[in-house]
Amino acid sequence: MYLVVGGAGYIGSHINKMLYQNGMDTVVYDSLVYGHKEAVKWGRLEVGDLADPVRLEEIFSTYDIEAVFHFAAFAYVGESVENPSKYYNNNVANTLHLLDAMVRHNVKYIVFSSTCATYGVPEKMPITEDMPQKPINPYGASKLMIERILADYHHAYDLNYCCLRYFNAAGSDPDGEIGESHDPETHLIPLVLMAATGERENIKVFGTDYPTRDGSCIRDYIHVTDLADAHLRAMAYLKNGGESTCMNLGNCIGNSVLEVIEAAKEVTGKEIPTVLAKRRPGDPPMLVGSAAKAEGVLGWKPKYGDIRVILEHAWKWYSEKKCY
Ligand code: UDP
Repeated sequence: MYLVVGGAGYIGSHINKMLYQNGMDTVVYDSLVYGHKEAVKWGRLEVGDLADPVRLEEIFSTYDIEAVFHFAAFAYVGESVENPSKYYNNNVANTLHLLDAMVRHNVKYIVFSSTCATYGVPEKMPITEDMPQKPINPYGASKLMIERILADYHHAYDLNYCCLRYFNAAGSDPDGEIGESHDPETHLIPLVLMAATGERENIKVFGTDYPTRDGSCIRDYIHVTDLADAHLRAMAYLKNGGESTCMNLGNCIGNSVLEVIEAAKEVTGKEIPTVLAKRRPGDPPMLVGSAAKAEGVLGWKPKYGDIRVILEHAWKWYSEKKCY
């Protein structure tokens, strides 16, 4: 049995589906603070918070857990700056409850959801794993702290880990069964599609004077189903005796905000009212990841690298109004 912590969220629910499709039994542990119970269509759902060690102990005593995928975290960068206590308590202190339960129950494998936000504002592109990690906000710092804690738990308790540093997770399940739905929504692609359906008046382009090819920010959008595939490979790698490690998951393709909006117009066939706006504080001009390590170690290659395909799948989800 695999424990999927945060499996009712956007990324966790896609991994939970792929685990099921590969014949792996799962139990999802999710507080449902940001997750959606409707997204847990496979395996079991146990509602509970990482803040509650008694409930966690109950889960580890009830199920025969062989390994853990850990997605549960707060992930609003701006909020993390305003309220770091919320982020360090939830993302760091509460994760210790999970890791300690794993140690107590002799569960040896964990795949951890990390982020390119641990790099801060890197000087070179594409970003490789050996570049300095200097997060510029508490969200990124909280994820980096867990990376460090995992290295220490590995050393002391023989807990084997793989940290996957995602670039911009995007798109939806190609079958349209689950998708991306955040409240509040702050991510570019869902907001662009909401502007296409008229749910929002327009999409604001945050900054048009960056030193990039068209002045808007460049990000590396990676399909959530490609992320899911990498998680299954990372777990198989650990269970086959692979060294504990961290790796990037990205496409090594950068798309600017304006390019995403143009592609969304083509995919949806809709007008997307666009407003050129000021920079959003804390946004690096460009973040593009090298996934050469994931390719070498896991044999992973993204299947859905084209931004149009990412948008098509996201649009299928939105246009069929399957928001939770
Ligand atoms: N962005 C934008 N308008 C929006 C939301 C986001 O121009 O309404 C930009 C944002 O400045 C960034 C990119 O889109 O350059 C991706 O932002 P998102 O919040 O989706 O992900 P992030 O890169 O911040 O993790």
